[in-house]
Amino acid sequence: MKVHNFSAGPSILPKEVMQQAAAAVVELDGSGLSLIEISHRSKAFIDIMDEACTLALQLTGLENKGYKAIFLQGGASLQFLMTAYNLLEKKAGYVNTGTWSNKAIKEAKLFGKVLELASSKEANYKYIPKGYSIPEDIDYLHLTTNNTIFGTQLKDIPATGVPLVADMSSDIFSRAFDYSKFDLFYAGAQKNMGPSGATLVIIKEALFGKVSRIIPSMLSYQIHAEAESMFNTPPVFAVYTSMLNMRWVKSQGGVEKLGEKNKLKATLLYGEIDRNSKFTGFAAVEDRSEMNATFNLVNPEDAEPFDALCKSSGINGLKGHRSVGGYRASMYNALTIESIEILVDCMQTLEQKY
Ligand SMILES: *Cc1c(COP(=O)(O)O)cnc(C)c1O
Repeated sequence: MKVHNFSAGPSILPKEVMQQAAAAVVELDGSGLSLIEISHRSKAFIDIMDEACTLALQLTGLENKGYKAIFLQGGASLQFLMTAYNLLEKKAGYVNTGTWSNKAIKEAKLFGKVLELASSKEANYKYIPKGYSIPEDIDYLHLTTNNTIFGTQLKDIPATGVPLVADMSSDIFSRAFDYSKFDLFYAGAQKNMGPSGATLVIIKEALFGKVSRIIPSMLSYQIHAEAESMFNTPPVFAVYTSMLNMRWVKSQGGVEKLGEKNKLKATLLYGEIDRNSKFTGFAAVEDRSEMNATFNLVNPEDAEPFDALCKSSGINGLKGHRSVGGYRASMYNALTIESIEILVDCMQTLEQKY
């Protein structure tokens, strides 16, 4: 039976990407050697890293625009710390849209003053705050473009002259977006880019050397950038597989084309959530994420039959995060519309039979 993988992360990747990655673990491009046994300083791997960084800039429309793409380790969680370490001199603004922004705020407080400019905590992060004022003298404004757990997504980038920093872990490469409005953004690979173990950071080179504090080498963007992401041994498998997936994104027509498909997928699922008397959506309609749809059953007693229906249709990873409950359907780039149709079928069967 075909499995439909709605897991929030680590999550679905295109089959062909996994097949190519698996083949390279056995033997990389007819070299007689495995991807994971060659030197990261070999020409073969340097070419892979180069291609990964170039693709990341191409897909975000930032090639030759003064940005550098680097691959690091430590997940998005290390970026909560590194962004502040490298950029926070006096004070920074944060918008609190859920679990991940909270964690970013906590780390940033170790380095300077953190102004929580807006929060939707009082509504369990059902919506994205808007219309808050942004002081002009902050070092940067930190946003989370997609709130993986609560299923909300930033649609409009706030207008401001201050540097913008964003956690894009769960929606990078998922839509046409003006990435050039951001001065730095980062994404743990395992949501929409590749396997866990690599983190992509895209940073404006003008941001290097902005703070007066001494930054330990491993936490310095400038050092990793100058070393072309090879300051220490990079996570070769995660970078390689992310590179393959970025090639796939490009072959699909880039973020514009995938964005259109993602919109269709999301429209189909949210349409059913709104139509079906058994279900209710969690996130505010105007802020609904095209990557993670959060929804609940109206009657908790329906959980047993619905879960059984999902199971018998091969649906995997639909359980909501413990802080929201209910269900969460993650619809990353590699998930096809057929998988959404199967889920919608299960929802309709529940309504008709129970
Ligand atoms: C998953 C996730 C994180 C945490 O990523 P790690 O790689 O586990 O550190 C941070 N931010 C967002 C938006 C996420 O979805």
